[in-house]
Amino acid sequence: MTTPALLINGTFQPAADGATIPTLAPGTGATLAALPRGRAADVDAAVRAAERALEGPWGRSSAAERGRLLGRMADLISRDHDQLARIEAEDTGKPLAQAKADMVAVRRYFEYYAGAADKVHGSTIPYLDGYFAYTVREPHGVTAHIIPWNYPAQMFARTIGAGLAMGNACVLKPAEDACLSTLALAALAMEAGVPPGALNVVTGLGEEAGAALVAHPGVHHISFTGSPEVGGLIQRAAAANNVGCTMELGGKSPQIVFADADLDAALPILVAAIIQNAGQTCSAGARLLVERSIYGTLVEALAERFAALTLGTWDQDRAVGPLISAVQKARVQGFIDHAVADGIPVLARATLPADLPAGGFFVPPTLFGPVPAGHRLGCEEVFGPVLSVIPFTDEADAIRLANSTAYGLVAGLWTRDGARQHRLPKRLKCGQVFVNCYGAGGGIELPFGGVKRSGYGREKGFEALHTLSSLKTVLVRHD
Ligand code: NAP
Ligand code: MG
Repeated sequence: MTTPALLINGTFQPAADGATIPTLAPGTGATLAALPRGRAADVDAAVRAAERALEGPWGRSSAAERGRLLGRMADLISRDHDQLARIEAEDTGKPLAQAKADMVAVRRYFEYYAGAADKVHGSTIPYLDGYFAYTVREPHGVTAHIIPWNYPAQMFARTIGAGLAMGNACVLKPAEDACLSTLALAALAMEAGVPPGALNVVTGLGEEAGAALVAHPGVHHISFTGSPEVGGLIQRAAAANNVGCTMELGGKSPQIVFADADLDAALPILVAAIIQNAGQTCSAGARLLVERSIYGTLVEALAERFAALTLGTWDQDRAVGPLISAVQKARVQGFIDHAVADGIPVLARATLPADLPAGGFFVPPTLFGPVPAGHRLGCEEVFGPVLSVIPFTDEADAIRLANSTAYGLVAGLWTRDGARQHRLPKRLKCGQVFVNCYGAGGGIELPFGGVKRSGYGREKGFEALHTLSSLKTVLVRHD
C-alpha cells in the first residue's frame, strides 16, 4: 500500500507539519498505516483549493461533463474492485465478502450519479403577464463531508458522488479509525480527471481536522454522518456561519414481526440485519418486536442461528468480523455486561473461536430477550452485534413500541396482511420502512435519512442531488 496522504488541490501530500496518527487493523490490533494528521492549516489549504476550483473550469463544467467523469470513476472502481475490497476489509476488519459487496455498491453510486447529473431540471413558474419566472438548481459551492468508519467507501461514494454530480467542490474528512479506502477512491477520482481542488481529502482527528472544517467560513454546506453527539457539535459550528447541514445520525431501528409473517423468509434477514458489519450499521435492525403468540417459536429459531455464528478476521471471511477499535469493543461489552447485571436473559451467544488473534476487537453476537423496552439495551444505540427481542400484544402495541425511542431511522415490517403492509408505514416515525425485506440491495436509489434524533435531510437516490444543491429563482421582465 502506498503511504496515506492528504489530497489537496490535486496533489497527495503529508500534513503541513508532517504529523501522523496510526490506524490499526481491527482483527489483530496491529498498526496498519500512519495517516497524516491534518489540522487547521491543511483544512484551510483544502478549502482555498476548492474555492479556486469553483472559480476555474470546474465552476463552469456542464452537468454532462460531470456525469462522464463520474462514469469513468465507476469504471475505475470496477477495474480495482478486488484491491479496493481488500483495503476496506483490512482497514475496517469486515469479512472480505462483505467488503466486496460494499464495492459493488460503491460502483453503483458512481454509475447512478453519472446518469443522474444531467437530469436535475429546474421548472418554470406561471407568473404575471410580461414576466418569465424559472428555477435552476446550483451547487452550494464548497461542501464539507464528514463520514464515519463503518462503511468508509460507501459513505465516500454516496456523498461525494452526489456532491460532484451537482458541481460542488468537496472537502472530505474521513474517520481516523478507517479511511484508507477513501484515499484510494480519491486517487481514482484524480485518475478519472476530476480537476484539482474539486475534491480534497483531509485525514486527521475529528476534534482537529473535523472541527476546523465545519467552522471554516469558506464552507457553504455540511454533510455529516456519525453520532448524534458530534452532530450537535457540528450544528453549533454551522450556526455560527449560518450554514446548512445534512445530519445522518444513528438509530435503534425496530423489526416488527407479526404472527402471520413468513418466518422462514424473515429469519435469515433478521439475523443479517444485526450482524452485518458486526452490528456497526446505523440502520441495523437492533430491536426485534415480536407478536407474543410466536415469541417462543421465533426466539428458539433465532437462538439457534446466533449460537452458530462464526467470527473471524477479514481474510478468514467468516460471518462476523471484529469491531473497529478497542474503544468500541469496550462500549459494546459495557452494554452487554450492564444488561446481564440487570438480569436480562441471554438467549444465545456465539462462541469466540480459539484461532482468533489475541489483539483483535471481537465481541460475540449476543441475543437478549425479553428486554424491557425502557431499558438502556432496548432503546439506546449499541452499534455492535447485539439484538434485543421485545414481545408485543397487538398492532397498537407494536406501533407504540416501534416509535418509543428517541431515534427514527428505519423500520422493518413482517406480515402477510396486505392492509397492514400499507397501514403501518404511515404510523411509523422514521425515514425508511421495509416491508417483508430489510435494507434491500443497498438501496442506492432510495432516499435515506432520519427523523427525530436520527437527523434530517436525505442522502442517496435523486433526493441527494437536491440536498447538495440550492434552488435559484429567476424572474425576467420582458414587456
Ligand atoms: P462520530 O464520533 O460521530 O464520528 C463521525 C465523524 O465525525 C468522524 O469522521 C469523526 O472523526 C468526526 N468528528 C468527531 N468529532 C468531531 C468534531 N468535533 N467536529 C467535526 N467532526 C468530528 O461517530 P462514529 O463513532 O464514527 O460512528 C458511530 C456513530 O455514527 C453511531 O452513532 C452511528 O449510528 C452513526 N452512524 C450513522 C450513519 C447514518 O447514515 N445515519 C452511518 C454510520 C454511522 P474521527 O473519528 O476521526 O475523530
Ligand atoms: Mg483501521
